[in-house]
Amino acid sequence: MLRPRVLEAGRSPDAGVPVSRCVSLTALVDGQRAAVEMVRMKSSSAVVTTMRAVVIHRHGGPDVLTLEPHWPRPVAGPGEIVVEVRACALNFLDIFVREGMPGEPTPLPQISGGDVAGVVHEIGEGVTFPAIGDRVLLNPSWGCGVCEYCRDGIKPRCLRSRMLGERNPGGLAEYVKCPAQQAIRLPDHYAFEEAACLPVTFGTAWRMVVTRAEVKPGDTVLVLGAGGGVATAAIQIAKVMGARIIATASTDEKMERAKALGADEVINYAADGDWDMAVRRMTGKRGADVIIETVGAATWERSIRALGKGGRLVTSGATSGPIGATDIRYLFRREQALLGSNGWTHNELLRVASLAFQGKLRPVIDRILPLEETPAGELALERRQVFGKVVIRPTPTRAA
Ligand SMILES: [Zn+2]
Repeated sequence: MLRPRVLEAGRSPDAGVPVSRCVSLTALVDGQRAAVEMVRMKSSSAVVTTMRAVVIHRHGGPDVLTLEPHWPRPVAGPGEIVVEVRACALNFLDIFVREGMPGEPTPLPQISGGDVAGVVHEIGEGVTFPAIGDRVLLNPSWGCGVCEYCRDGIKPRCLRSRMLGERNPGGLAEYVKCPAQQAIRLPDHYAFEEAACLPVTFGTAWRMVVTRAEVKPGDTVLVLGAGGGVATAAIQIAKVMGARIIATASTDEKMERAKALGADEVINYAADGDWDMAVRRMTGKRGADVIIETVGAATWERSIRALGKGGRLVTSGATSGPIGATDIRYLFRREQALLGSNGWTHNELLRVASLAFQGKLRPVIDRILPLEETPAGELALERRQVFGKVVIRPTPTRAA
């Protein structure tokens, strides 16, 4: 197994950071070791080739997340950029990568974290955009570019797609590398922490609500589990599209927050287990036109019952489990459609970002934590003790 390499300071072919910059970076490392390192670096013309990173060496619970103080820093190859990570938002994907996904092996060791915003630190050969110093959001997912789906512009169906923090090292580190075309320029006024919340949750929700379910003004949209990241994004996007929104949540506090985001009516599913009947009552027995499903096993059967005639149920995840019973009679009698949704296209993310930069979509941030508290952040997410996103800030905020 590859062990973290502690690279000696010194000019190496894959290094390239002036020492003045390195000192400020190294100062972030806690403890005596950092102090020693700083002194050593100040006294030489050395360059740093390592970074702090939360590394997964083996699959398991949050305790397998190891903060490595001297992990090899990525270097930009042709067409690539290296970004200094200012914010990385957590997702359930990070938990799945950490635990290991059956049938979808993750190469180890791995750094998770797909939702990244930061400052371009290095550009590879041939890169014309972005430039060093640019504030950027990264689209964490890209296609192979050659399969028939990529050629048709349907990256979510790519046969060999890549994702930061899944098959490529992600942003729970001080630096991350990706193809340059994944960068989206951030307006100066827009915070890194908010930007990092956009791709996975808002990108996913946009494709679910707008592209797959084709929500139209006047549609009744049921959003399940309103505390989740995709759900909070879906409420806002469905609102922008002019829909009536019913949300389900597990606590009174989450119900209030769902209303503040734009939900017209809210059902406490912990108090009212027959929430599917509540939806039918609220819609004059018609049922919902669209259901945004990310919960899976725990809600699937009732979702089908809550879905009306011509209804579209769109799912992008199954955080409670992947197996759900489908009463097929509802499908044919009500002419229901079950739709899957997988990620987003670059164009969909650009639209989401445009609305967010205008303040029309607002990421909900539950908490912001330093890199070393990543395990606590994932635990809170796993236990659903959050409303909105947990954002990790690998480096302290300073002028870009
Ligand atoms: Zn492809």
